[in-house]
Amino acid sequence: MPFVTLQPTAQPVPVGNIYCIGRNYAAHAAELGNKIEETPLVFIKPTSSLHHPDQPVALPAFSNDVHFETELVILIGKGGKHIAEADALQHVAGYAVGLDLTARDVQSAAKAKGLPWTLAKGFDGAACISDFVEPDVVGDVGQIQFSLMLNGVRRQAGNTAMMLFPVPYLIHYLSTVFTLQPGDLIYTGTPEGVGPLTSGDELVLSLGDRTMATFSIA
Ligand code: ZN
Repeated sequence: MPFVTLQPTAQPVPVGNIYCIGRNYAAHAAELGNKIEETPLVFIKPTSSLHHPDQPVALPAFSNDVHFETELVILIGKGGKHIAEADALQHVAGYAVGLDLTARDVQSAAKAKGLPWTLAKGFDGAACISDFVEPDVVGDVGQIQFSLMLNGVRRQAGNTAMMLFPVPYLIHYLSTVFTLQPGDLIYTGTPEGVGPLTSGDELVLSLGDRTMATFSIA
């Protein structure tokens, strides 16, 4: 059973659906040549793609260009349908930093043919996740900072203030289509600075000043 860990008690939480948002930061949409969406771009990953830092990530053999995308991840604690934006944060159990690993070559081919992104986004290890911390640890949800150090060099730095669709709106929007359930995860999109991974890489994910997880590439 796929699970995530909620600190400070190290409580294991069974994971339901894994929702992901694309193009939620203007500068990242621009670096991939994508236009800004009028509504959130939503895709999902299978729970089998969930990956914890205790094991190295094995890059899939069917891709030669797997990119890291560093993202704030929401853990839903209380489910609901048609959740109002004003109530959305009451449904959050915690926040983590994750990697939406993406086989960019496979995704580009799918985009060109108008096909789904499932293979490019859903392979084993494609949803790397740190432990979660409770909402009071991060403070103002509109000012959450997170970052990636790749092999000791800062490559991505995000702040929820730069989101095109903020956290409360994402929860509201998803809940108008899907019944959100306890244990659902929402990967909220990546800021600019994405790039390819190679064997031996080390990725350190931080939330504010707090180191959340270190992932290595096999
Ligand atoms: Zn992403």
